[in-house]
Amino acid sequence: MNRNEIWALMDERQDELLTLCSDLIKIPSVNPPGDVSVIVRYITNYFKAHKIAYDIVGASEDRPNILARYGTPGGKTVVFNGHCDVVPVGDEEKWAFPPFSGEIRDGVMLGRGTSDMKCGMGAFLFAVAMLADAGVKLSGDVLMTIVPDEETGGAYGTQWLFENGYIKGDWGIVAEPTGMDNIEVGQKGTMGMNLYATGTTAHGSLSPYVGENAIDKLVRLLPMMYELREIHGSYDGEIAQVMEISRQKAKAVQKTEGVENIMDHVTVNFGTIQGGVKRNVVADSAMAELDVRVPIGVNHEDVIARVDEIIAKSGIQGVTATYDNPRGGNFVSVKDPIVETVRDCIKELLDIELITAYQWASSDTRYFREAGISTIQYGPSNTEGIHNYNETVDVADIVTAAKVYAAIILSLVG
Ligand SMILES: [Zn+2]
Repeated sequence: MNRNEIWALMDERQDELLTLCSDLIKIPSVNPPGDVSVIVRYITNYFKAHKIAYDIVGASEDRPNILARYGTPGGKTVVFNGHCDVVPVGDEEKWAFPPFSGEIRDGVMLGRGTSDMKCGMGAFLFAVAMLADAGVKLSGDVLMTIVPDEETGGAYGTQWLFENGYIKGDWGIVAEPTGMDNIEVGQKGTMGMNLYATGTTAHGSLSPYVGENAIDKLVRLLPMMYELREIHGSYDGEIAQVMEISRQKAKAVQKTEGVENIMDHVTVNFGTIQGGVKRNVVADSAMAELDVRVPIGVNHEDVIARVDEIIAKSGIQGVTATYDNPRGGNFVSVKDPIVETVRDCIKELLDIELITAYQWASSDTRYFREAGISTIQYGPSNTEGIHNYNETVDVADIVTAAKVYAAIILSLVG
């Protein structure tokens, strides 16, 4: 079966796709609290109906992962990833429609999770179901990974699946919202940093002659950390091109002068600060949490070395830095066949040029790329409602996504 034939079948059965997505929206798998058992049961029933084999794995009873496979094992593998949890709806009064509506109005599907990311997930479930129903023989296979807790960090989901060896593959598609004209091919690295300062306590009335104030040390050191923002990557060839597109995109989206520098520079944010015990006591401890983001092309080790340099240069004693899971940026080449396939499909389906860009934030995609899987992030999206009120997605985009996903499978493991 070629891609035009499968697309024709998908057009014919489009109502099933929309019913599937609408049903997924109507199941409120809100996280927190994060109980996804009802939606997981719905999805496993969907697999049963289409004779797709699946397993349930996980570290927690109410946070199961679904792994479903279709195709011929032993060849190449395309991995799809979707999270079935959604963020809370907030104040229901602020919604123009019921948050778990799932209704289609004027070509738009309504409800929490439509963009982030139940309709992207529904689109790949449907794409594989159509291949299965048509009995398409693949040279490799498709692994679908449905995870429960992306919205609260992913410790039971994608991260856990990688740590326990459940995901192996050659290409990956994370169906997070990007919009159909835009594919995410890389993202910055993250470096959670904790700065601790220690001192010696004394009566506040004796400061600064007696005692050593830890808060004083920290407030002097923190502005020096802005020096990290000078660190940037140098690029040539393809990466330079994609980086420039990404800078322009950041500027257009954020509508703020200079914001484009977040793409190729280290950024630093002071997230929290705490310390001391009482107004009249010289503080003997203080701590700050910093969010440091590392661009593609910069090693996080070099950033850590610069932090050590800054501390040494400051001459401030009794300060240490620790890091939570530091990692650099990651990306896939725009010449990778998975990117080429999406570009080709979008040209044919929508007659537009695909925008290939890096992301300034990060997501579960990093686990895929770190495991050596060429991975893109690509899914239907109406940005305004994501993690906000009145979340929606365009029905046409759900259909396009499903077609692109089917075409990816056929072109890579067909
Ligand atoms: Zn998401």
